[in-house]
Amino acid sequence: MLDVVVIGGGNAALCAALMAHEAGASVLVLEAAPRAWRGGNSVHTRNLRCMHDSPQDVLTGAYPEEEFWHDLLGVTKGRINEALARLAIRASASCRPWMRRHGVHFQNALSGTLQLSRTNAFFLGGGKALMNAYYRSAHALGIEVRYEAPVNRIELDGGHFLAAWVGKERIEARACVVASGGFESNRQWMREAWGKNEAGEWPADNFLIRGTRFNQGVLLNDLLKQGADRIGDPTQSHCVAIDARAPLYGGGICTRIDCVSFGIVVNRNAERFYDEGEDFWPKRYAIWGRLVAGQPGQIGYSVIDSKVIGCFMPPVFKGERANTLQALARQIKLDEATFLDTVTRYNAACRPGTFNHQALDDCRTEGLTPPKTHWAQTLDTPPFYAYAMRPGITFTYLGVKVDAQAAVHFSGTPSDNLFAAGEVMAGNVLGQGYTAGVGMTIGTAFGRIAGAQAAAAALRDRRTPVVAAQAA
Ligand SMILES: Cc1cc2nc3c(=O)[nH]c(=O)nc-3n(C[C@H](O)[C@H](O)[C@H](O)COP(=O)(O)OP(=O)(O)OC[C@H]3O[C@@H](n4cnc5c(N)ncnc54)[C@H](O)[C@@H]3O)c2cc1C
Repeated sequence: MLDVVVIGGGNAALCAALMAHEAGASVLVLEAAPRAWRGGNSVHTRNLRCMHDSPQDVLTGAYPEEEFWHDLLGVTKGRINEALARLAIRASASCRPWMRRHGVHFQNALSGTLQLSRTNAFFLGGGKALMNAYYRSAHALGIEVRYEAPVNRIELDGGHFLAAWVGKERIEARACVVASGGFESNRQWMREAWGKNEAGEWPADNFLIRGTRFNQGVLLNDLLKQGADRIGDPTQSHCVAIDARAPLYGGGICTRIDCVSFGIVVNRNAERFYDEGEDFWPKRYAIWGRLVAGQPGQIGYSVIDSKVIGCFMPPVFKGERANTLQALARQIKLDEATFLDTVTRYNAACRPGTFNHQALDDCRTEGLTPPKTHWAQTLDTPPFYAYAMRPGITFTYLGVKVDAQAAVHFSGTPSDNLFAAGEVMAGNVLGQGYTAGVGMTIGTAFGRIAGAQAAAAALRDRRTPVVAAQAA
């Protein structure tokens, strides 16, 4: 019998598969996507957040455990499991040599973008190259990968894994790792989770999905229905404000709009609704999707003037451009008078300061609600630009509960041979909020743990099949 079946084809799955193989197990990977679309959301990534106590190759300075922990504690506002979070943080200090052994290369952070050179190790060639390296390594080691193999059901005996079903085919294994992502691509589930708002709108109908269309949450749903303990809130996710012209699925990182902190953001009523300069963009970009989701019609407009061009990574698609604010309002179909009033009041509230886009500068507003606490400069230098933004869901946080062995829990009891890694259990660490690069930290740490544990369970079972059968 096969030792370990790994369900999913992204970072967490491949980390698990490679670790299980290294531990001596036979491994089969079942990936829902065709080969050309393999790799899930992981192909869209750029970096991994890493703890380190001193400069290391591509990482500058130090990023000690306590600082990493406090960053996570801050963004999750305490909705976090400290033991599991610290486990992932510590694992991030030692995973890169292992990744390199499987062909992953790192590069220095791009300068002038998200100020991440101290905290995040960037993949040379991005997540696509990372996943290609893992697949290449898996292939070389003889790990079988089946594409277009969506698992629709897991067969359990209590919390004990028996088999995975791909359509009508039953695939038995001694142990299983579920790494099949979140449910962000399942529009019906997202609709139900978010429900109707007070205005009678279904906000989720206006969400765009930044990554793979294959994360439909089929196994998350199946496991929860079969009694796996749940963790997290279905409305919580990593949710970024992205270009409203992005495709429904798979727009990836190039649809991000990174100029929010340097101008103002207005809603469909041409009114501001949040402090655009609250903190550095890497610490705030992941709250803006949710903020836009809370606005009428789930749309927002980031408006800047020419002074700040060059301070942020330019969007791939050109924004609306006009030489007057009136013309800009007309182009983005906002009420001209209200828009002008919003900008006039904002301009009047800006206090003189020394603009510095690389520091939390002293350019702020006074007497304005909501305030803008940094990088507040008057909008006065044409041409003016506007970018329409929609909530872009990266991944959801509802998941199955796991422990430090990545074992899936059923009524508080850990399964002896069913493990979970990546988005499907990220809610154990992230109850809400996000800080750049931690998705890959969680997936890599728990993928590796799950793979090693699944192999250990399978090898135990190999040694004691008769006893196990009698006990069952
Ligand atoms: C645009 C974008 C940029 C991002 N950038 C970063 C970044 O720079 N750093 C970072 O840390 N995180 C980033 N993330 C988040 C990151 O992608 C995820 O945290 C991480 O990839 C999760 O890995 P995973 O293996 O759990 O899921 P995925 O990589 O999504 O893999 C899930 C896999 O499961 C497969 N699958 C789903 N259902 C089934 C089924 N029923 N049967 C079989 N297979 C199934 C899918 O096809 C897919 O291969 C980004 C995400 C996006 C969308």
